Amino acid sequence: MSQKVVFLDRDGVLNALVERDGKMVSPRLFKDFRILDGVNDAIAELRRQNFELVVVTNQPDISRGLMMQSELDLMTKAVFALGVHHVFICPHSDEDSCLCRKPKPGLLTQYLALLDCKPTELWMVGDREVDIAAGLAIGANTVLVGLGAFESNTRQHFGVSNLFEAVKFMTALK
Ligand SMILES: [Mg+2]
Ligand SMILES: [Zn+2]
Repeated sequence: MSQKVVFLDRDGVLNALVERDGKMVSPRLFKDFRILDGVNDAIAELRRQNFELVVVTNQPDISRGLMMQSELDLMTKAVFALGVHHVFICPHSDEDSCLCRKPKPGLLTQYLALLDCKPTELWMVGDREVDIAAGLAIGANTVLVGLGAFESNTRQHFGVSNLFEAVKFMTALK
């Protein structure tokens, strides 16, 4: 059986970043966790197109003691409620030297190892260079979303403004 898989970064792709100390960063509290416009429709369309939806997210504030696991669990529940099939989380920071923190592809390869057949299509959608690097490491098509998509010199295959646009592109909808 053929299997189409899309790996989705979480922060900046599914949910909005928050401002902290003048920077746009990941939310630490569930009360600050807001799903971006168009994400529900994008997920629904990917499901209609028979994609397996796998969220792969770095959450180093867990390792750093800056976010409670219970807050992250609430966010993960909200992500599952969108209709994604799997959520894989790297809770480590750089000092942990793990194999799963993007740009390393460990979260992605961990999932692929569970499949009993080779996927026919692989995609990675993220808003940072580390997401694109992880996707390229497994030979996936990559899409960079968000404002940075048009500004940076990152190596994405395709750049669009948000997940909904990414899905239109992936599924060649007009
Ligand atoms: Mg992100
Ligand atoms: Zn890790």
